[in-house]
Amino acid sequence: YPEHLWMKPAAAYHFPLDGAPVSIGLYGEGHINTTYLVTTTSGKRYILQKIKDTVFDVPPLMENIERVIRLAQKNAKKQADETGKMQIGSLNLIDDLDGCSYYRDETGYYRVYDYVEGTICLQAPESNDDFYQSAAAFGAFQKLMQNFPVEELHESIPDFHNTVNRYRIFRETVSRDPLGRAAGVSEEIRFALDREKGAGELCRLRQNGTLPLRVTHNDTKLNNVLLDEKTRKARCVIDLDTVMPGLAAYDFGDAIRFGAATAAEDERNLSRMTLDLERFRIFTRGYLEYGPDFSEKEIETFPLGAIIMTLECGVRFLTDYLDGDRYFAIRRDGQNLDRARTQFKLVSEMEKHLDEMRRIVREEEDRRNSQKR
Ligand code: ADP
Ligand code: MG
Ligand code: MG
Repeated sequence: YPEHLWMKPAAAYHFPLDGAPVSIGLYGEGHINTTYLVTTTSGKRYILQKIKDTVFDVPPLMENIERVIRLAQKNAKKQADETGKMQIGSLNLIDDLDGCSYYRDETGYYRVYDYVEGTICLQAPESNDDFYQSAAAFGAFQKLMQNFPVEELHESIPDFHNTVNRYRIFRETVSRDPLGRAAGVSEEIRFALDREKGAGELCRLRQNGTLPLRVTHNDTKLNNVLLDEKTRKARCVIDLDTVMPGLAAYDFGDAIRFGAATAAEDERNLSRMTLDLERFRIFTRGYLEYGPDFSEKEIETFPLGAIIMTLECGVRFLTDYLDGDRYFAIRRDGQNLDRARTQFKLVSEMEKHLDEMRRIVREEEDRRNSQKR
């Protein structure tokens, strides 16, 4: 068995838990970290995570998370005081016995969160309202981060949404063609290259200051939101590893890429892959209702964000296919190519529906503005 399936991490004993651990078991369906549920003699529960340190430089990453959580807790309290009702809240991180936000031993890096009781975590929405709640959660997260000094945030994955750079790597991989796979996918390569110029638009708007830098989550999937098990309303956003400076259009776009797609990322029957405009509308609504006062320009870039995030993702899958599947794990041959194809199909669908996406965003913006008045 792999180590993590039988090892009960001793790290749990290095955090000031309420009571002694009575059970430590693997928990959840996360793919990045190794997550354990810890129950103590007092009955209190905690989430213990072994942080994936092969992908992340842990100390700066944890500094990001500490600061994000501190501000989220402060602003959530302020918003609750102002409105007199509980808003979407934040995770609580527990420092280790030395007062550090993570503990390191010879097996790796660990952190502990309070387990958020009375919540559920869904892998896929069971209704439109579940999807709406994820939009509310990520919008609210954006609002909680409004006055964060974003230039002080570390880039936990450098150039994460630097689409221009992603394309540079793509072209370099095409010309290197280490496995001779390029000839078989010339159509896909063409599709990507035809769109290279437009794909750099968000980068340009970020660089020339047209769009404000925000604290972005960068993994805006429903399974990174905890919903109240009774009311099914969003309680908080989790999985803050990829929190970085970025654009609202990244978080919005990636949520649409994943959540408003009608087929799985590796679906082989491409006719199944289209854009669900109803889902698109629902996410837009929740994101605008719960989000900060995004600028007109920012809101205008949301449909573009959906296209660029999807295109960038497809380009990354195709790059990895050409490069011999070294980054994205595959369970069958050609899976990364299938993934690239679904993303490109979705890009085509989004291009076809661009006017509708724009109209929906405008309608939802008007709707929000009239509610505020
Ligand atoms: P990964 O990066 O591996 O996806 P996550 O931080 O998303 O890691 O955690 C994995 C799973 O653990 C989540 O999908 C959720 O089910 C559960 N989880 C994480 N943190 C908490 C928490 N504080 N309270 C309750 N459940 C949690
Ligand atoms: Mg997760
Ligand atoms: Mg994660």
